Amino acid sequence: MSTDRKLNPVNLPAGIEAEYTPGGALILDGKLCAKLLREEVRLEAQHLTDVVGRSPGLAVIQVGEDPASSIYVNNKKRACEAANIRSFSYHLSEDATLKDVLDLIESINNTPEVDGILVQLPLPKHISEQLVINAIDPGKDVDCFHPLNVAALFGRNQKFLPCTPAGVMEILRRYRIDVAGKKALVIGRSNIVGKPMALLLLAANATVTVAHSKTVDLSSACRNADIVVVAAGQPGLVGADDFNERAVVIDVGINRVGRKVVGDVDFKSVADKVAAITPVPGGVGPMTIAMLLRNTLTAFKEHNDL
Ligand code: NAD
Repeated sequence: MSTDRKLNPVNLPAGIEAEYTPGGALILDGKLCAKLLREEVRLEAQHLTDVVGRSPGLAVIQVGEDPASSIYVNNKKRACEAANIRSFSYHLSEDATLKDVLDLIESINNTPEVDGILVQLPLPKHISEQLVINAIDPGKDVDCFHPLNVAALFGRNQKFLPCTPAGVMEILRRYRIDVAGKKALVIGRSNIVGKPMALLLLAANATVTVAHSKTVDLSSACRNADIVVVAAGQPGLVGADDFNERAVVIDVGINRVGRKVVGDVDFKSVADKVAAITPVPGGVGPMTIAMLLRNTLTAFKEHNDL
């Protein structure tokens, strides 16, 4: 086990200090980054509420009784309240029809106090997620799932950033980790994480490779990369032998194993080898909600020409 510090970031922002694992890897503390970002949103929301005469508003729609969704929805409501964002809750029963959901979205699209609309996924099987997402006013689509906002990721003037990938970029930015010119590997190609992650890294001038379940020799692609973002939903998918010593490892995975929540990276062994790593929990997860709050504030500013 080496105790050499392979990364010594300078000019870290106020509130962030470099902390290391016993093996010398910089710990990328997403929980701390999220706390700082939420406080920034809270202060700006408070100030702009005074200017505009109303607070930013986020509508959260839940359909059905999925227990995990109920926890996520409650977390989002609490985060809104703490950030001076008004939350509006809509809960439809499991047997709601597609038309019920579309009618509700249309009415919220036309509610001026609501700046952002979030539909908690997954929806019950009989309701098409894509049709529901398509119905959201793109100017209120703070999850950045609407096709127009997804297409905007190909350009440079997108309104909203996809929350989880943008959270990853924000962690890298706050820890002063340069992305330009680096070899970045994204493991996973989902529409929510992997693909938009690759686009954001590309926009930041990384040379990007995307690996997925059909990739041959994932390990050598990994060992060749400077930055690895793992978003496969497979606990223990990659371990110490899969990384070089300069690697910056971002673990997006959230997996329940028994009573524990773990990522996709074997944290214990990898943290003793690489240059920097996000823990799970306390890494990317907290950034996702923080970016949602920031997108809601962005929508509010847009709606009020600020
Ligand atoms: P998904 O199931 O939609 O996609 C998984 C991707 O991983 C697929 O593209 C698949 O090809 C790839 N994959 C699967 N097995 C692989 C393997 N053995 N080798 C290489 N690639 C493989 O999942 P998702 O929605 O993208 O989520 C991925 C993980 O991130 C999950 O654990 C999820 O819970 C987590 N997640 C976390 C946050 C957060 O806020 N931190 C947000 C969204 C998702």
